[in-house]
Amino acid sequence: MEKGKLVVYTGCSGVGKGTIMKELLRKNDNIKLSVSCTTRAPRDEDTEGVTYYFVTTDRFKELINEDGFLEYATFCDNYYGTPEKPVDELLAKGYDVFLEIEVDGGMQVMKKRPDCISIFITPPSMEELENRLRGRGSEDEETIKKRMARAKEEMEFKKHYKYSVLNDNVERAADEVLSILNKEKTN
Ligand code: 5GP
Repeated sequence: MEKGKLVVYTGCSGVGKGTIMKELLRKNDNIKLSVSCTTRAPRDEDTEGVTYYFVTTDRFKELINEDGFLEYATFCDNYYGTPEKPVDELLAKGYDVFLEIEVDGGMQVMKKRPDCISIFITPPSMEELENRLRGRGSEDEETIKKRMARAKEEMEFKKHYKYSVLNDNVERAADEVLSILNKEKTN
């Protein structure tokens, strides 16, 4: 069986990459989303083992020492990392595996796995991004400010990604991601 494609899928907080991801999973059952470990507190919409594995900082550090991560990074004071083994198992089974990760992790994966596909999701504008982040209502003012500051820095990394996709409309953006994937798979 042919191995699946590894996709680094990045976009700033609030850009709507999670919503596009749901569309991708609905439209294409060969796509799997990697489940990350994080030390951040769960939000209402989070489910252990589905959106993340929620771990303590001590446990996260143990996993780093055990070399369990394909990549890991800190983002707004918390650790986030991709467990490596499940990703390779899914790829071996022929699934296309999406890593919904921030830029530091994205850069690590591009170095370690040069055959990955890298896609950066961009917002229509930074104002729109702030509106979406506030509209979500799940973070306090300080967190929103931190995430907006980080979003501006993250936009600088867009140039390192092979593709960028504008999230002007979820359905359209999802279709564009799928056509990139199809194109890369037939190359
Ligand atoms: P959130 O707290 O909003 O769920 O995620 C914050 C940021 O961390 C997002 O940009 C998200 O894509 C990123 N992220 C989630 N999981 C991982 C991971 O395993 N590794 C890295 N590097 N970033 C991650």
